[in-house]
Amino acid sequence: MTTYNEIFENNRRWIASKLASDSEFFGKMANSQTPPYLYIGCSDSRVPTNEIMGLEAGEVFVHRNIGNLVPNTDLNVMGVINYAVVHLQVKHIIVCGHYNCGGVKAAMQAKDLGILNPWLRNIRDVYRLHMDELNAIEDEHARYNRLVELNTQEQCINVIKTAAVQKSYVANGYHTEHGWVYDLKNGLLKDLEIDFEGVLHEIQKIYDLTGSGLMQKDSE
Ligand code: ZN
Repeated sequence: MTTYNEIFENNRRWIASKLASDSEFFGKMANSQTPPYLYIGCSDSRVPTNEIMGLEAGEVFVHRNIGNLVPNTDLNVMGVINYAVVHLQVKHIIVCGHYNCGGVKAAMQAKDLGILNPWLRNIRDVYRLHMDELNAIEDEHARYNRLVELNTQEQCINVIKTAAVQKSYVANGYHTEHGWVYDLKNGLLKDLEIDFEGVLHEIQKIYDLTGSGLMQKDSE
């Protein structure tokens, strides 16, 4: 395990290696950012965002929390989505869950988890929404894995419910939403193939926040 002091040595080595391949690297980074991707993932230390995507500094705007959740009352994640969509104009929004997620596992326990209760209740709500499918899976680990996928899917839907994403779609036609699950056991990213337009049209009658009526007309 890396010691605290070694982190600063690592930092200096990293600076040297960056400058060796591009002497302007830090000058360019300091100027501005135009990342095409917003990534919303779990805080789990075993899911290193940039590494698993093969992306360099400046290529992905990142938000992480326990269970990769997108609750509409959380100012943090809502602010990140708004800034990424409205100001950075990202083209793709990714919600990435992962198998063996401690947050999802904790939410499956019938237990008082203190301050984590209101946060993890978002995952319990996903369980309630998909109870029939989940309870039909007899193997507990398979049920746990499926809840990881369904939680990721529901958080994608929460992203699509936001005004920023809906307005960006109406204005720019971006097909922006993706749901992925990362497998800690082999490093693979699984694309849940979220049907962005399908979800958008499905939920628009209740969650349409564009004020334009354009999405309503789309489906007629
Ligand atoms: Zn997790």
